[in-house]
Amino acid sequence: MTASCIFCKIVDKQIPAKIVHEDEDVMAFHDVNPEAAVHILVVPKMHVQNVVQLAQNEQLLSKVVQIAGQIAKERSGGEFRLLFNTGKSAGQSVFHAHGHVLSNKTSGETDVV
Ligand code: 5GP
Ligand code: ZN
Repeated sequence: MTASCIFCKIVDKQIPAKIVHEDEDVMAFHDVNPEAAVHILVVPKMHVQNVVQLAQNEQLLSKVVQIAGQIAKERSGGEFRLLFNTGKSAGQSVFHAHGHVLSNKTSGETDVV
């Protein structure tokens, strides 16, 4: 937990998010400012700055990608973009690694809330 990190606060349930998946290692929740019909962020619970740091833990990176695929299977028929902005000039604004699951194709499960 990094005190000033907004995604650590979401993981810690100090601030609310529309959570779609949670296990001991990974959380996924809706992006607050969606840019596609399906726009979900998949984050490791552990604070690491970006996907390159996340890749130092191969199992955790693999799990993040697998959860992204599972969410996309449920919500967009398994077709999606998985985007990791890395660095400020590349558009990263939250420095806790996160994959954007993006798709304009929707299917299956949607949220009740
Ligand atoms: P980045 O620009 O770092 O790749 O992506 C950060 C994403 O986090 C943005 O798409 C932004 O809309 C989203 N975001 C920022 N703050 C919050 C928040 O408090 N809650 C949620 N659910 N998403 C957030
Ligand atoms: Zn964090």
